[in-house]
Amino acid sequence: MRYVSTRGGMTDASFADVLLEGLAPDGGLVVPESYPSIEGTLGSLVGADYPEVAFSILRLFIDGMSDTEIRTIVNDTYRPGVFTGDGVVPVEEIGDRWLMGLSTGPTLAFKDVAMQLLGRLFDFELNRQDRRITVLGATSGDTGSAAEQAMIGRSRVSVVMLSPHGTMSPFQAAQMYSIDEPNIVNLAVEGVFDDCQDIVKAINADAEFKTMHNIGAVNSINWGRVLAQVVYYVWAWLRVGSAAGSEIDVTVPTGNFGNVFAGWVARQMGVPIRRLVVACNENNVLDEFFKTGRYVIRATEDVVHTSSPSMDIAKASNFERFIFDLFDRDADLTRSAFSELAPDTPLTIERDVLAATGFVSGTSTETDRMATIGGVYADHGRLIDTHTADGWHVASEYIDRDVPMVCLETALPAKFSAAIERATGMVPPRPPGFAGIEDRPQHVTVIPAAADVVRRHIEAINAAR
Ligand SMILES: *Cc1c(COP(=O)(O)O)cnc(C)c1O
Repeated sequence: MRYVSTRGGMTDASFADVLLEGLAPDGGLVVPESYPSIEGTLGSLVGADYPEVAFSILRLFIDGMSDTEIRTIVNDTYRPGVFTGDGVVPVEEIGDRWLMGLSTGPTLAFKDVAMQLLGRLFDFELNRQDRRITVLGATSGDTGSAAEQAMIGRSRVSVVMLSPHGTMSPFQAAQMYSIDEPNIVNLAVEGVFDDCQDIVKAINADAEFKTMHNIGAVNSINWGRVLAQVVYYVWAWLRVGSAAGSEIDVTVPTGNFGNVFAGWVARQMGVPIRRLVVACNENNVLDEFFKTGRYVIRATEDVVHTSSPSMDIAKASNFERFIFDLFDRDADLTRSAFSELAPDTPLTIERDVLAATGFVSGTSTETDRMATIGGVYADHGRLIDTHTADGWHVASEYIDRDVPMVCLETALPAKFSAAIERATGMVPPRPPGFAGIEDRPQHVTVIPAAADVVRRHIEAINAAR
């Protein structure tokens, strides 16, 4: 498989070329030059375990690695020592739908599914190229800890992670800031997530600095992450759809449009997914888009802080990939649409074009989240986290008895215990190893939202190593 940029300035790149990068050199996003069909092989995967499914999907997108190399990495990633869930990604039937558990990795959120793979792929590639990199990332909560956990002990990788100061849950903050490793630096930025993301973009646009420090990315725009996520949409159909002999609908709590975009890739590959339900919290730019065809990004000061903070986002960084597909992969159109995009110059897509994509959407508010968490617990004795609850709430509008609905569980409730306690009066149980994590010493520096300050921290960590 070869890779191209959504803006036309990169063609014919290899998987190894794009693995360690975020944006393409022209400011666009990396996409495969086409989506391989899996319709012919889907049947043979019924009954396969998760690593086997992952291997079968990943090999379609990875050139330059042998099947044995891919298999070794996949088997080392998707195993019980890394993911404690039954069968790596458990799928349970709860009432009128299914819940797919993506949160049983080391940081209790779905980002581990991709990041654990990415850490191992990075090691492989950096060893082969005899290179080192600095991973510069921005996180609204879960990416940071997942990335840091995946990079601990990897001697060829430094991590500099930006997070919005004071908006993560205490548990999320402790998960990141309690990490004390020579190759990991936490910077808490006085601003919102989009400010962090803008700094990452600014530094990546500085070609000289980027080359000097071998800046790489593990943000949700990293293609390797999207790819790893495609696997569990195939898994969802194999577990739920194949037995029912039917298509499935999948509901995805959405922020940066990374997770649900992987669902779109799976659908384009021929996985029988009828609807992809985009679930937003109060920051519902994407719900507006799927309902009206107008994508009106918001100013960062209009981001609402919610109890599902990993979805508190004003512009969805993966969205350009989807629009590129809707524009029939016309890079010129995509470039002009996204270089002009601003709160007062929306992008518009015709409603009938949107209707054919299978995407539908909805919004869940604080009241909905609380009622959903309380209701699911009362009805089924199952605690779900705030993000999963946004998905659950929106999915309820789209339940159809003929097509099974799969909701994605994107984090465990222990990560957001204050909100869970508000909703149910109960403190969610913590998995072993997480007791008292908030009391551990923290390693973080609070900085203003300025790219130059971040540059100095990158210089310092690389000088020290
Ligand atoms: C990151 C995250 C999301 C949003 O995922 P995107 O890929 O950004 O759409 C939803 N829920 C949780 C718990 C997350 O960590």
